[in-house]
Amino acid sequence: MVVVTGRDRDTARLASIERQFWIDRDVALEAAEAWLAELGAGDPGAISRRLIVLIAAVRIHRTEPGQIATDVQSILGWAEQHDEVALQSRCHDVLGSVFEMVGDPALALEHAVKANNLLDASETPLMRAAARKCLADALGSAGSLDEARRRYADALRLVIDDPETNIRYIILNNLAYTEHLAHNQVEALAAVDRLVGLSELSDRQIGMSARDTIARVYLTVGRNDEAERMLLPAMDPAISDAHPDSSAAALVALAQLYRTEGRLEQAQLVIDRCRDLSRRNGLNRWATETTREQAEIYAANEDYRAAFEAYRHFHEQHEALSASENESRGRILDAMFQTAESRRESDRYRELAERDPLTGLHNRRFVDEHLGVALMRLREGGPELAVAMVDLDHFKRINDTFSHEVGDEVLRTVGRILIDAVGAVPGGIAARLGGEEFLLILPDTPADRARDIFDELGCTIADHDWWPITANLPVTASIGVALAPLDGDHSSDLLRAADTRLYVAKQAGRNQVVHA
Ligand code: GH3
Ligand code: MG
Ligand code: MG
Repeated sequence: MVVVTGRDRDTARLASIERQFWIDRDVALEAAEAWLAELGAGDPGAISRRLIVLIAAVRIHRTEPGQIATDVQSILGWAEQHDEVALQSRCHDVLGSVFEMVGDPALALEHAVKANNLLDASETPLMRAAARKCLADALGSAGSLDEARRRYADALRLVIDDPETNIRYIILNNLAYTEHLAHNQVEALAAVDRLVGLSELSDRQIGMSARDTIARVYLTVGRNDEAERMLLPAMDPAISDAHPDSSAAALVALAQLYRTEGRLEQAQLVIDRCRDLSRRNGLNRWATETTREQAEIYAANEDYRAAFEAYRHFHEQHEALSASENESRGRILDAMFQTAESRRESDRYRELAERDPLTGLHNRRFVDEHLGVALMRLREGGPELAVAMVDLDHFKRINDTFSHEVGDEVLRTVGRILIDAVGAVPGGIAARLGGEEFLLILPDTPADRARDIFDELGCTIADHDWWPITANLPVTASIGVALAPLDGDHSSDLLRAADTRLYVAKQAGRNQVVHA
């Protein structure tokens, strides 16, 4: 009895510290360190290790990422040996952020996917939201914008009733920044409006890194005055010393703003402040950006000689920065992937972020992961979805009659038709499974709509003007459709159902669609 109560107490204490991470990181850090000290030396169990991982998560932006990566990697090894699944998930979450930071989206994605897959259904919505956010960040960096958006939306839904933590700000900030980087002004502005609205509702001060995002989005739509108001706090030494990294980013944006408005003296003042801040805090990236902006300011002042010198200096700094970033990425990878096996494993995930080279469609691994996550959402009460297996009819004949190159051209054209077809549904996915076989996924699509889209697709392929490629040889496809949850809510059920119907379509004479 006593032991069980003790464990319950530990679980509650751990949960409250992990929650505190999303309220005030310094408070969480202090609480974790205090508990670790209480636990003292001796064999550190799962709790100590969870605390160490949490401390690593707080320190991630404040210390050498390579050290964090190796420490957390070794805890991950322990967690795998001892079947500590929640701890594994936390480790992958932190590793995902480390790789995100050092600019390796493929590895970031690998860890983010694992962080999500290892989450137990009994985890709090906050922890589930945190894992979704991590996945969304990684997907965004890997260029899967639609996927990223959906995970951000998932994450927000999970914490909609949680006004105490700051996770919603971070999610909206990252969403806005992702849209901004993809030049989606409308979407970026929508996320920014939600962010500002949220802070007005709750009287919570907007943090420096969100201010930087908001201002950059405002600048793209000419709302300069509001952008300036967002950025000005970075000039306050009390704020910039507490948040040097995001303040340096904000100061560069502010200097740009003043320069483009012709307020060159103010621009110079801001960039001087930024240079000083970056140097004092060893922010090489922002020191480099400062030099670039300095060159622009000189040029705007028509001091071309000074501008040229500054550009040259910028170039040197930039080269040194890339070299050191590459080196630190290399060091982390070396430390973590000593064995050939884990190298292969990481190659597998690298492919996730990539596409089929012939058609540019997603590849098999991507759809496996994607479908897995979509069905996980469905089982958690998310929307239904439709899939279709598409196989070209008598494709071998095209290769044999003409050439492999002509076959390839047909595959590329079919790829474009498939992308068009799934474009009818937001988040629609077209993938090449291999050879002349494709899989389409339509999220949130009811049966009758799926029927229309796939029937039309069959006709589009058959009616396409193939003459320039295959002369009088027709190109058609057989299609098998499956629906979730009707045919099941696991990938294997769905793919089996679609495959069976594809076979029926072939048997019935090809060039047709067989539905559920
Ligand atoms: P069915 O209607 O029964 O599907 O007949 P099929 O000829 O389409 O099917 P089968 O599976 O017998 O042949 C598929 C052919 O696709 C065989 C293979 O040479 C060809 N193929 C696979 N991958 C590629 C590729 O990347 N490029 C080209 N040009 N051909 C490919
Ligand atoms: Mg075929
Ligand atoms: Mg085939």
